[in-house]
Amino acid sequence: MEKKILINGKIYTEDTRKPWAEAVAIDGRDFTCVGTNDEVIRYAKFNFGEYETVDLCGRTVLPGLIDGHTHPSMIAKATWVFFGPDTFDKEELFQNIREAAKKYPKEVRPYFVYSSYRASIFGEEGPRKEMLDELIPDRPARINDDTGHGCLYNSMALEMLKDENGIPHSISPIAGQTFFKDEKGEYTGVCFQTIQNGDVGVFEHTGWTPPLCMDDECAEPVHNIFRHYGDIGYMDAFTETEEDIAYLSRLDKEGRLYFYYEGTSILDNVKNIEQTVERARRWQELYGSDHIRVRTVKFFGDGSNEAGDTLSLIPFANDPEGKNYGHCNCTMEEMRDVMVRLNKERLDLHIHCVCDGTLRLLLDAVEEAQKICGDDWCIRVTIAHLECMHPDDAMRFNKLGVYADISAHWLGMGELGTLPFLGQERWRHCYDFSLFRRDGVRYGFSSDNMSPLGNDRNSPFIGIQVAKTGREPGIGFYKALDPEKYRYGWQPESGKFTLEECIHAFTWRNAERMRLLDKLGSIEVGKRACLVVLDKDIFTIPDEEISTIEPVCTFFDGQELHIPNPLKA
Ligand SMILES: [Zn+2]
Repeated sequence: MEKKILINGKIYTEDTRKPWAEAVAIDGRDFTCVGTNDEVIRYAKFNFGEYETVDLCGRTVLPGLIDGHTHPSMIAKATWVFFGPDTFDKEELFQNIREAAKKYPKEVRPYFVYSSYRASIFGEEGPRKEMLDELIPDRPARINDDTGHGCLYNSMALEMLKDENGIPHSISPIAGQTFFKDEKGEYTGVCFQTIQNGDVGVFEHTGWTPPLCMDDECAEPVHNIFRHYGDIGYMDAFTETEEDIAYLSRLDKEGRLYFYYEGTSILDNVKNIEQTVERARRWQELYGSDHIRVRTVKFFGDGSNEAGDTLSLIPFANDPEGKNYGHCNCTMEEMRDVMVRLNKERLDLHIHCVCDGTLRLLLDAVEEAQKICGDDWCIRVTIAHLECMHPDDAMRFNKLGVYADISAHWLGMGELGTLPFLGQERWRHCYDFSLFRRDGVRYGFSSDNMSPLGNDRNSPFIGIQVAKTGREPGIGFYKALDPEKYRYGWQPESGKFTLEECIHAFTWRNAERMRLLDKLGSIEVGKRACLVVLDKDIFTIPDEEISTIEPVCTFFDGQELHIPNPLKA
């Protein structure tokens, strides 16, 4: 029925003027009344004529959740990759790879790709291709590291990726692709910033190509995880192909999308700014709708702190000469010019940044771009990840009006792999957002999951639990941390977020940043009827149980959705 009322709820609205309600009235896709049971029933009697009544039975209700940075299409298209169990033991890893190769012989998987190995277990030397040659001698092979930014090819794959000049390439939207060489000038097999679906040389040589675009078969199960957990919108931090967005557009036209989607046009190199702008314009024109927008450009400012391909404010701790500051994928001037150009085009910018040197450069660029644009400055710049930042720079976000995106479930991880590069002092302050909380910085939360391994991490409730407790609970792929080794990885009291802050970051703030505040972000008259009904009361259950919350149902544009948990099927 088009008209309905939901009564007897404990509804947290995110509307500061009226934070709590018992009931809502929904007409078509919009909220038309929010208030007490009496108010809403009287409203419906007067205005609706025929209507349906849904009894919420006292359940807790939140506004529809929005994931500020995630990768459903990457997860969907990685179904051909073999995912093994997590281990810190080299021999165990080798055994896992051997078993996977036996399970998926050459005839089934002409290109063997395995995820993932802990980058930290090979020490500073890193792994070598000969090691993988021994494990997988019969075909091209690649193993991905746990950061999502590094991998190791075997010799056969490396040869297939080489051009006529003997230089290997993989198509990647991420800036800073590097194939490493040893002292003798020989490729080691280690590479940063390639994606498995971009290994075209291998596909050409083997005559086998993995699924490269989304379809119902690979995308439905992934989308259902997001739907099940109450997400009604997300930013795809990496819209890989036009086919992907065309697929979503098809779903939208068939009334099967159930998401507000913000796509990104990837700036793989600052020099390619014109193509990137043109792509965003074209996609928006061809596929833009009430539910789909492509008004954001994404850039990788740096790589990962586990690999040291980032820009650091002080020399990396593992450089004996104290001269290695790493590097960033652009200069301050280049980034400033990109920002000025995007401001002219009215395209927002979302930047990957994990190290303090990169952050300073980016904020300097914002400051300079604002000086040039003056009153015309109007785009939103969001800096994502922020694993390591200098306190001075944390205090610049507000002044410059820069948004932050925080992957909430990372806050308790204390990844040991970054320690050799960052050193004790910086490592123990990783993901400490105390200053953001104190300074009222505009931050949204996200899951930033890139692989089927972390599928349970798509649940915003795991993110909320970790942000609130400052501790990794050890769910799914990620193990709980040894309190002896990791006690500095845990957040200080001041770095723990309140429940209200967490909910705000997954709803209102992401809607604001994605320019959807007129439709989403709170339960208010005139906004889209998007909400999530929880099976447990998030306001009263113990912190350690927040991650077990599962929505009973979600309303998307007034439509009631019951999506069973695909992870429990
Ligand atoms: Zn990401």
